[in-house]
Amino acid sequence: MKVLITGISGQDGYFLSKLLYSKGYEIHGVVRRNSSMSVGNLNFLPQNIRSEIKIHYGDLTDANFFAKLLADEKPDEIYHLAAQSFVGYSFQNPSSTYDVNISGTLNLANAVKDYSPRTRMYFAATSEMFGQPETIPQNENTSFKPRSPYAVSKLAGFWTTKTYREAYGLFIANGICFNHESEVRGPEFVTRKISLAVADMVRGSNKPLELGNLEARKDWGYAGDFVDGMWKMLNYKEPEDFVLGTGEIHTVREFTEEAFGVIGIRLTWKGLGVNEVGLSEDGNILVKVSRDLYRPLESDNYKADYRKAREKLGWKPKTKFKELVKLMVENDLKSSK
Ligand code: NDP
Ligand code: GDP
Repeated sequence: MKVLITGISGQDGYFLSKLLYSKGYEIHGVVRRNSSMSVGNLNFLPQNIRSEIKIHYGDLTDANFFAKLLADEKPDEIYHLAAQSFVGYSFQNPSSTYDVNISGTLNLANAVKDYSPRTRMYFAATSEMFGQPETIPQNENTSFKPRSPYAVSKLAGFWTTKTYREAYGLFIANGICFNHESEVRGPEFVTRKISLAVADMVRGSNKPLELGNLEARKDWGYAGDFVDGMWKMLNYKEPEDFVLGTGEIHTVREFTEEAFGVIGIRLTWKGLGVNEVGLSEDGNILVKVSRDLYRPLESDNYKADYRKAREKLGWKPKTKFKELVKLMVENDLKSSK
């Protein structure tokens, strides 16, 4: 079986490559060129896996690139993971977010339709499409009310793939994934920002961790569990949409407390709003709140109802919240030694 992964250098690309390698796939990945020719998280893969991956340099916004790639390779499966994936950046750069996430998805869907219609395609949709949901938990029937340029772009991608599925009979499955994190999560996402800061403090840094909205409520799972759900979607009998998440809800504050707990520090909080600080037992300021890190609009209140994935795909998350925080902090402690 031949697979093409867009976004192979990102977090999910790393875990998916490992999974599909273990299943015997021939792996092709799309990487965009950069001046240092760095291949991101591909560098962390074991050498035997890394050396077998065939890289195709190209950009999502280049329709000709995808047309030729699909005509040449005709993969059995495509996992379309590549995206401008950071919500905060999408508020500052909505146009490029739309170009990459909307046109990029359209380019790929067109290439599948025109050059490789038997290919099964996965599209990485997101719980962010729910915006600020009024009903908890959320599932495939919850209404979408996106509240960031990122979420708008993903909803456009989602409707594009659904339309192509129905209009042209393509096998395209959408994963409506809730937040998933790991030891290779991008450093600007709040979970990794916290785990990296905690590890830095163990190394001797005196710089407090600056955060925005401590009350944001998210459903955080482990990326390694999620890629298995993606694979199951493409190997299900019908192309459908599935929610993947944990069904657990936690705040940024809880994540922070848990992360400091891993290194034996019990945080206490003092002050309110942007004046709030997190203190160690001996009164050192370890966490500060910054107004600049609040978003123009928050999207939270997320809790996944993943019953459909459990019942139809036999998928469920394995890693609990506390384990996730521990593995991220311990990994950053190891790599910062
Ligand atoms: P990452 O940000 O880690 O990876 C994104 C990937 O997309 C990187 O490989 C990046 O390349 C690539 N990319 C970005 N722009 C382009 C472009 N113009 N052309 C080609 N490649 C490009 O994301 P994750 O792995 O965490 O997420 C995978 C997908 O799932 C994304 O689409 C994301 O939006 C979605 N998603 C993620 C969730 C999560 O919690 N992780 C939740 C729900 C959905 P480079 O290395 O060069 O930057
Ligand atoms: P997202 O859910 O894809 O936007 O992932 P993030 O990790 O970027 O953000 C998760 C939540 O943490 C959001 O509700 C943010 O508002 C909140 N948050 C609070 N402080 C920070 C911070 O310093 N950085 C980031 N990235 N998010 C923060």
